[in-house]
Amino acid sequence: MQKGFRIGKIAGIQILIDWSWLLIFLLISWNLAIFFSQIHPEWGTGLRWGLAMLAAILFFASVLAHELAHSFVAISQGIPVRSIILFMFGGVSNIQREPASPRSEFLITIVGPLTSLLIGIGLLFLTALLGGIQYVVDQGPGTEMSGVLRNLGPLASILAWLGSVNLILAVFNLVPGFPLDGGRVLRSILWWISGNLRRATHQASLVGQAISWILIVSGVAMLFGFQVPLLGSGLINGLWLVFIGWFLNSASIQSYRRVVIRDILEGIPVAKLMRRNPPVVDKHLSIENLISEYVLGSDDHAFPVLDGERLAGLVTLEDVRKITRDRWSIVNVGEIMTPIDQLVVIKPDADSADALEQLTQRDVRQLPVVSNGVLVGLLRRKDIIKFLSIETEFEE
Ligand SMILES: [Zn+2]
Repeated sequence: MQKGFRIGKIAGIQILIDWSWLLIFLLISWNLAIFFSQIHPEWGTGLRWGLAMLAAILFFASVLAHELAHSFVAISQGIPVRSIILFMFGGVSNIQREPASPRSEFLITIVGPLTSLLIGIGLLFLTALLGGIQYVVDQGPGTEMSGVLRNLGPLASILAWLGSVNLILAVFNLVPGFPLDGGRVLRSILWWISGNLRRATHQASLVGQAISWILIVSGVAMLFGFQVPLLGSGLINGLWLVFIGWFLNSASIQSYRRVVIRDILEGIPVAKLMRRNPPVVDKHLSIENLISEYVLGSDDHAFPVLDGERLAGLVTLEDVRKITRDRWSIVNVGEIMTPIDQLVVIKPDADSADALEQLTQRDVRQLPVVSNGVLVGLLRRKDIIKFLSIETEFEE
């Protein structure tokens, strides 16, 4: 989820936009421009589209404000936040660790919907001041909503839309489907009651999956023309709901799996899981000899490269693949390896949960384990997977 283009940095947090967000930007602008043309046919095309796009940008700013609220509280709780990414379903703060206590999780989470709620109320209040209220007072009881909207000027129209959208954002995020904010609030309460994060995550994840299936089924019903209470009807809405449900479903399952894995690996030193005494090669070894002496007849596919006694780098089969076969006898591993200064290494007493995070973040299959500059082992993804499968088998 780290892809997207960078638009800036706020308080050390990278702000990224995923390409899928552009689709939403266009959809919102398009919908609003049409909406404005119905309410205010007297506005010119330029004004309608300009307002619609400005509103879409302000919508983006309010989603960002929601995520920044999460991030700032996380940072105040001592949890680093690397980035915020905005994508088609909203925003995600890349909070680096699970919160240490239910209280901390509750605070980090609740502040997001609260921010959306406050923005929503504030903007609607402003809209009322800008003429909405006066019109209602003038018209007396039974004023029609479309009349109110028709009476609003360009600026107030945007604020009215943005205010309502922020209220919807607050409510939608409070749906108790983990990992939505509401689900996280639910988890923090369950966690507080049982004192068991893993069990609380499991329960919250089940609720999340149940809600996601309700969304998917409602969406499919809407595709077939049914009117669903609270959610509406129509092809586009139905399709949208199926998408959101499907996304929420996989997110709930994944977040639970991540917590289980972390829970199992936490406190296990890398030294316990790593491959001890992995085969090492000299940097002058030719690729040809690497293949015939080390690769064939073993299941290793990454080899620490030594320069004398010192670790000089790591060579993998992927590096070998970049060299055409006819050059295998003249090129040696020192020329194709990832050199030590570009290599992530880990200490034998490091936590395996952190090691897995490193493997995932750097998208590598192994980390050389180094103690005081000396290679002591190689931690491979498959070593971790093996350990996890043994642990979970004994548990069930
Ligand atoms: Zn949130």
